[in-house]
Amino acid sequence: MKVLVINCGSSSLKYQLINMENEEVLAKGNYERIGQGNSFLTHKVNGEKYVLENPVDNHEQALEFMIEQLLSDKYGVISSLDEISAVGHRVPHGTDLFDKSVLITDEIKDLIASCTDLAPIHTPPILNGIKACEKVIPGKPMVAVFDTAFHQTISKEKYIYPVPYEYFEKYNMRKFGFHGTSHRFVSQRLAELMNKDVKDLKIVVCHLGQGASLCGVKDGKSVDTSMGFTPVSGIMMCARSGDLDPSVVTFLMKKEGFTPDEMENVLNKKSGVLGISGVSPDFRDIEKEADEGNQRAKLAREAYCYNVAQYIAKYAVALNGVDAIAFTAGIGENQINIRKRICEHLEWMGVKLDLEANQSRGEDKEISTPDSKVKVWVVPTNEELVIARDTKQIVENL
Ligand code: ADP
Repeated sequence: MKVLVINCGSSSLKYQLINMENEEVLAKGNYERIGQGNSFLTHKVNGEKYVLENPVDNHEQALEFMIEQLLSDKYGVISSLDEISAVGHRVPHGTDLFDKSVLITDEIKDLIASCTDLAPIHTPPILNGIKACEKVIPGKPMVAVFDTAFHQTISKEKYIYPVPYEYFEKYNMRKFGFHGTSHRFVSQRLAELMNKDVKDLKIVVCHLGQGASLCGVKDGKSVDTSMGFTPVSGIMMCARSGDLDPSVVTFLMKKEGFTPDEMENVLNKKSGVLGISGVSPDFRDIEKEADEGNQRAKLAREAYCYNVAQYIAKYAVALNGVDAIAFTAGIGENQINIRKRICEHLEWMGVKLDLEANQSRGEDKEISTPDSKVKVWVVPTNEELVIARDTKQIVENL
């Protein structure tokens, strides 16, 4: 069985075609700048990367062109559309309507559309992607996999916000959490690597990418997570603020005359590590500048590591102890120095990093010493594989 995994953003379409017999990625890529006049497809196949410029107006045209490549002599990996058995769609927000992946039907499409109010930027492109598949590769069973679903096990006293209860009732204003597919994959993979049942472990997963969130996992379930009503909350990120004194927002709006949209732009695109350092949202640049003596880059690095460590401690409370910490995503998998600094803050709780083992990037690896009370691992995430596995499982049981 071959599963096509689709992840649509407002101007992008990412994809992977996965052979589920051996979970091999046959082809993958990203169509960028859809509808912006200068769209191009980066298509990777057989270890080669091809950049194909082809302006498209919408996701349907992008999908059509991408499918042509999958079928082409030059860049292709399949000889007929019949080889694609099913499609898995990444859906960033399922509110509290979805606690697991589901087969997409007309009713499910309506339910996904009803989440638009809470995810106005992310939901319309997903619906466009689903429609595009119905037109370009009709008749394929499709599955929706939600970033929020894994966190539906969080209990009410942990997801409720201390604002008047009427706003929870009126707007469903509560913590939802995101990156659930990644937290689920990494916690299960870590248990496998540790030769334990995930049900016997208390794990803190640190998904540290551009967007970043932590999750406390106990009994294989999400107990608490750092992102909330939106993905701007929790730990500070590359360009997002994370949690703040809420008065900072109202103060700035008054003093700077920001509209709500302008304020959101500051919190989402100009804050976090970029905001403090003034250098870059990319940790590779921050590390370089900090090592060369840039004080604000150093400050951003220190603030970030302290903040992540604080949240790990927070989830030690939620889990009533911690057996293992897993680092994942771009920063978690690759930034050796950041992992080291975070772990230095946690020595009091029995974290002992093996500095030599920590010199590792992008591979499954235990990086704590044998006598470390809390085990520390690097576990690369693979959200596309989870989407493909869920899709296969649902479609096989139809
Ligand atoms: P996204 O949330 O967009 O998926 P990623 O998980 O790719 O983000 O993380 C992006 C961040 O990861 C970058 O800002 C960079 O700091 C870091 N990063 C990614 N790849 C590497 C690498 N090979 N070496 C060091 N840092 C990396």
